Amino acid sequence: MTDIIEYIDEGPEDGPENTTPIVDVPYDRRPNLEELGIIEIERGICEDTFDNRAILRRSMLKWSPVFDDQTGAATNLIIARSIEQDKERALISINNKRQLLSDPGNVNSDFLTGLDLLLDDDAQKIAPPWVLGATRNWLKEQEEGGPKSAKRAPLGLPGRCRLTKTDGTRCQLWNSGRIKDDGLCRIHLGSTRRTANNVEIARQKISQASSYAVDVLEELMETAVSEPVKLKAATEILDRAGVRGGMELNVDIKTTDRSPAEILAERLARLEAVAAERTTQLTADGVQVTEVYAITDVTPKPEDGLDPDARNE
Ligand SMILES: [Zn+2]
Repeated sequence: MTDIIEYIDEGPEDGPENTTPIVDVPYDRRPNLEELGIIEIERGICEDTFDNRAILRRSMLKWSPVFDDQTGAATNLIIARSIEQDKERALISINNKRQLLSDPGNVNSDFLTGLDLLLDDDAQKIAPPWVLGATRNWLKEQEEGGPKSAKRAPLGLPGRCRLTKTDGTRCQLWNSGRIKDDGLCRIHLGSTRRTANNVEIARQKISQASSYAVDVLEELMETAVSEPVKLKAATEILDRAGVRGGMELNVDIKTTDRSPAEILAERLARLEAVAAERTTQLTADGVQVTEVYAITDVTPKPEDGLDPDARNE
């Protein structure tokens, strides 16, 4: 979970361009996933599976979802990117903002502020309007000798966010200059905007965790040594897929406009068939469903005496 949270939080740092899918990354700049043992759909692009994401995470790569360039629908594919790629993108972006730098020779230098900013026509064209407005207000207050009342906090002078990102480049967003913001931009501040989105972020996390939960069930069903555990996993999967005893299986799968929920539903549908087969087989082999639920009870029972897993106290 921790890794997933980090991934979400780092997303917005790169600015608005990060919200569009990066399907136009040049082929030779994409990481070679075959070297990591991942089956590539095309260079740098693979299926969005738990295994693939685990490998990418271990290899210090980040990833973004790939959308269909015709319909904009989710594709269940992800494109991997390296920290070097992030850095390269940041450097291209800061090169376009060079007029804003107080030291044009140093991409990590401060942005122009105050009168310096307002006097530089080129810099003004690049600076966000709210920065120019706040800078004008700050200058005006300075000229008038400070805040109108002693109780009011002085206006802030916007400047460059002081943080350096994981790719080693300095954040290119602006801070408000208010003392309580401590030189941080709204993203690094964990702004009110994010607070408003907390429910949505929590939902995304649960959505990501739920596909992991399916992976765990899937793995248990495939590899668990204990047959009751296998059966429990299989029946859980059937339960979540909405299949109860005596129900007719409906495995109609839509292939267009796939939302994350639908992708999950599809995986469950695929698992239904396997799980149903296993359940039938295990039941035929004499494994009772009642045994499955007994495993949640940790108290050793007399009849479990021959079971090597049973704990004798
Ligand atoms: Zn920042």
